[in-house]
Amino acid sequence: MKVARLYDVSDIRFEEEPIPQVKPGEALVRTRTCGICSGDVMGWYMKKKAPLVFGHEPAGEVVEVGAGVTDFRPGDRVFVHHHAPCFTCRACRRGQFVQCPTWRASRIIPGGMSEYFLVPKENLSGDALHLPPGLSFADGSLVEPTACAVKSLRRSGLQAGEKVLIIGLGIMGQLHVALARHVGAESVIGADFVSYRREKALQLGADLVLDPAQANIEDALREHSNGEMAEVVIVGPGSIEAMELGGRCAAKGGTVVLFTCSPPEAVLQVSPYQLYFNEIRLIPSYSCGPNDTRDALRLIAAGVVTAEKFITHRFPFTALHDAYRNAAEARDSLKTVVEFP
Ligand SMILES: [Zn+2]
Ligand SMILES: [Zn+2]
Repeated sequence: MKVARLYDVSDIRFEEEPIPQVKPGEALVRTRTCGICSGDVMGWYMKKKAPLVFGHEPAGEVVEVGAGVTDFRPGDRVFVHHHAPCFTCRACRRGQFVQCPTWRASRIIPGGMSEYFLVPKENLSGDALHLPPGLSFADGSLVEPTACAVKSLRRSGLQAGEKVLIIGLGIMGQLHVALARHVGAESVIGADFVSYRREKALQLGADLVLDPAQANIEDALREHSNGEMAEVVIVGPGSIEAMELGGRCAAKGGTVVLFTCSPPEAVLQVSPYQLYFNEIRLIPSYSCGPNDTRDALRLIAAGVVTAEKFITHRFPFTALHDAYRNAAEARDSLKTVVEFP
């Protein structure tokens, strides 16, 4: 089978590998689509993982199952999460699935950017989901990114009637826009430098979009909210500047979600005085667990999130390099997916 192995963000190579052998409890999936994640094009993050067959947003068709597998059979259309928890450890019992050692260690083999991938026992039993009839493989590729936004909004505590500011309107920001609207937010405000993205956010239900190059976001939000600011602020970019802006835009008693990690050496300075008297909560949200993927699949099946709305570019696997470049440039695009024959 053909795989795409990333050695560096500027060095992705097609390589040939044997198709993995299926053991008891496992399944082999023929990949049909795989999304390119914002994390996949983040240089410092990928460097520490390379070399690897990247791609963790796959959907495909089961072609073989190992002994003892009863929930899946050849022909089934599935989304498979690349990480799955044990469901029994202390972290899992508290619902902190991404803190489970099994979650961290589990992975699909060799990865999503491969003509076939092996689904280990934990992933198959813990976080592989059947795609309902009517959903495409491309819809299936949206389960993981949607689940990350589901988790982020759950952790934010966003309630109907509240205001939310979403800083950064790439694909993950746009998913937050659609889900915040779905939750019943009173006002959804987005900020991004790229006009294409601001336009998209309006189409997806944002009430107001701001260009940080033109407007002081904090002042514009103050005006829009009659001085109340936003009960929830989602900080998309992993930059300290964006996080500081997020902190200044939060309403008293509000929550700031740090959605993307910054490099290990970055330091965010906070004023305990400001945090304390304004009771601002700083909440990181890393990836997603099996509860979030199930919620995400329901939202996709309900049409809240669809491939039609969010997938702007599709490339064949043979044109992976163009797909990767398109996702990395992140200009006039939202989600880029790779399609397999
Ligand atoms: Zn992802
Ligand atoms: Zn666990």
